Amino acid sequence: VTPELSGNFGKIMEWADAFRTMGVRTNADTPRDASVAIRFGAEGIGLCRTEHMFFDEARIPSVRRMILSDTKELREKALAEILPMQKEDFIGIYKAMEGRPVTVRLLDPPLHEFLPTDEKDIIALAKDLGLTKEDMMTVIHGLEEFNPMLGHRGCRLAITYPEIAEMQTRAIMEAAIEVKEATGFDIVPEIMIPLVGINEELTYLDKVVRNTVETVKAEKKSDIKYLIGTMMEIPRATLIADKIAETAEFFSFGTNDLTQMTYGFSRDDAGKFITDYKDKNILPNDPFQSIDVEGVGKLVEMGVTLGRKTKPNLKVGVCGEHGGDPKSIYFFHKVGLSYVSCSPFRVPIARLAAAQAALGQSENDK
Ligand code: PEP
Ligand code: MG
Repeated sequence: VTPELSGNFGKIMEWADAFRTMGVRTNADTPRDASVAIRFGAEGIGLCRTEHMFFDEARIPSVRRMILSDTKELREKALAEILPMQKEDFIGIYKAMEGRPVTVRLLDPPLHEFLPTDEKDIIALAKDLGLTKEDMMTVIHGLEEFNPMLGHRGCRLAITYPEIAEMQTRAIMEAAIEVKEATGFDIVPEIMIPLVGINEELTYLDKVVRNTVETVKAEKKSDIKYLIGTMMEIPRATLIADKIAETAEFFSFGTNDLTQMTYGFSRDDAGKFITDYKDKNILPNDPFQSIDVEGVGKLVEMGVTLGRKTKPNLKVGVCGEHGGDPKSIYFFHKVGLSYVSCSPFRVPIARLAAAQAALGQSENDK
């Protein structure tokens, strides 16, 4: 029993765990969050986002040099500077998780978020890359986007710059092999490819990732196991989930993006009108908070069914905000998800909700 969940509450949580059939993981990208989540009962990391790691002050100059360089060689040089820090990120996380499963997602944010805006930074970068300030500005403008959330992000980034996926995969695997050898924990990294909507995006990147893993394994003489899977967060992916499951070894529903793209509502701006929709009874609930069973939910169900048509035992989780919402958890249980993943402080709520869902289900089955 953990310090936070001792006493009567701890007892209730134990009962809940005895009933629930769905796993409960956490979304965490630092060892600190991972440790908090474990104390709340998380059974693994369902989503380790890697975006924040790239914005780290010590790395951002290399990140910018990487995206603004026009040759693979220069990009690889910049990525080599980031690799040791990226490896340390994962070493810390694997250690904190003590052998529990960890799903690491490859870089996802829109490219433009990395672009320098400060004049001082732009001048320094231009100097570094041997360009005039004007030429540097032209390169920067060329990477700007009108609609970045539907733009150059997720797997699209890795397709343009496979060397980013290679660096991250190397860091994920080298860290896992080192921690496995040092601690004896049986670490099986789960590498997750974001924003797939076309089967060929996944088959292309699966090869890039798999080749890198196999190279690292050979270099380190390691027989470590690993999985390569994908996010299900573009409506099209759920429609072709049977094809995607031929390559993917697991799915994780990104219900934030899936809701955004199914409704055509921007997840960053919908707050501006959702309250009017509620007041006028057009939408009873905010679909970004609680799963929209009749729309987005149908896509989730279809994705699970089609995925398991190809691979009957396919592990399928959810890592969008809905993974910590009790009503949504009830729905995820009903459609047969293997686990939900939510923020650390929501883990106890998810454990209870998953138990209630299992009990409710058995009541309904009578
Ligand atoms: C999602 O889209 O639901 C998801 C978990 O990814 P992110 O929120 O990082 O886009
Ligand atoms: Mg997403």
